Amino acid sequence: MERPPEIRIGSHRIVFLTDGYWRNDGGCMFGVVPRELWKRSHPPDDRNRIRLNLTCPLIVRGSDAILIDTGIGNRLDDREREIFDHGEGWMLNGLRAIGMEPGDITAVVLSHLHFDHCGGIVRRRESGRLEAAFPRARLFIQKGELEIARSSSNERLRAAYRHVEECLGPNANSIEAIEGAARLTSSVVAEVTGGHTRDHQVILVHENGECFAHLADIVPTRSHMSGPWNQAYDLDAMTTMERKAAYLAEAVRERWWVSFAHDDAIFAARIVLDCGKLRIGETIVAEQKN
Ligand SMILES: [Zn+2]
Repeated sequence: MERPPEIRIGSHRIVFLTDGYWRNDGGCMFGVVPRELWKRSHPPDDRNRIRLNLTCPLIVRGSDAILIDTGIGNRLDDREREIFDHGEGWMLNGLRAIGMEPGDITAVVLSHLHFDHCGGIVRRRESGRLEAAFPRARLFIQKGELEIARSSSNERLRAAYRHVEECLGPNANSIEAIEGAARLTSSVVAEVTGGHTRDHQVILVHENGECFAHLADIVPTRSHMSGPWNQAYDLDAMTTMERKAAYLAEAVRERWWVSFAHDDAIFAARIVLDCGKLRIGETIVAEQKN
């Protein structure tokens, strides 16, 4: 695998790992936005699926290696692999390409517990057994997200989290529930946004006036910078709209780097305001090969 691109925020390296491309229904990804409007920038295949990424930024400083989200991993069965067009995942190849292995990851922070963000916290071995993918990592998850994922009786939520015990089980001893805004290190913070899920969180790295933000599923692709472009999965699209507008305004003002969880063309960009519209400035391109 080619070496994943990276940026620097002060003394931090932010390495753009990906668990590879996958496909999902374009209608689900853009909610109320008609296909006519998104089909040019996100061309659908004959099953209306669009190509997406599984971007997992890795924050490295000294001996700290904090992975944000983990992608789908290799736990899907054959039918699901076909539906989502995703196989073994690329995470291990990406780590290898930067001279690291899963045991070097000291922490994993999950934006939320949907399968395309937490699936990679387990690894299916040849025996079929699922094991913790990052055996030494502390695992930071919002307490409310854990509670809803584990115990909601609501039909829609139960379906959205049906994989959760399989993923959390092998990691049970590493989970550290955090409540609300949390400082993971002196310069890495998690902030709850809600919107996509009630306790969805984003991760920011601040140092010396520079900032990197992973906005996870409140701005999953560059197209979702636009107010009404939100996923059909969002439990509270109004909150997504408010929170992403606030973060993106700050990103423009303060020249942040912002990364996109699912954009198949770019990993990250600086955001600029052009005639009142949010646009992509300097860019880290995401064209990767396994
Ligand atoms: Zn997602």
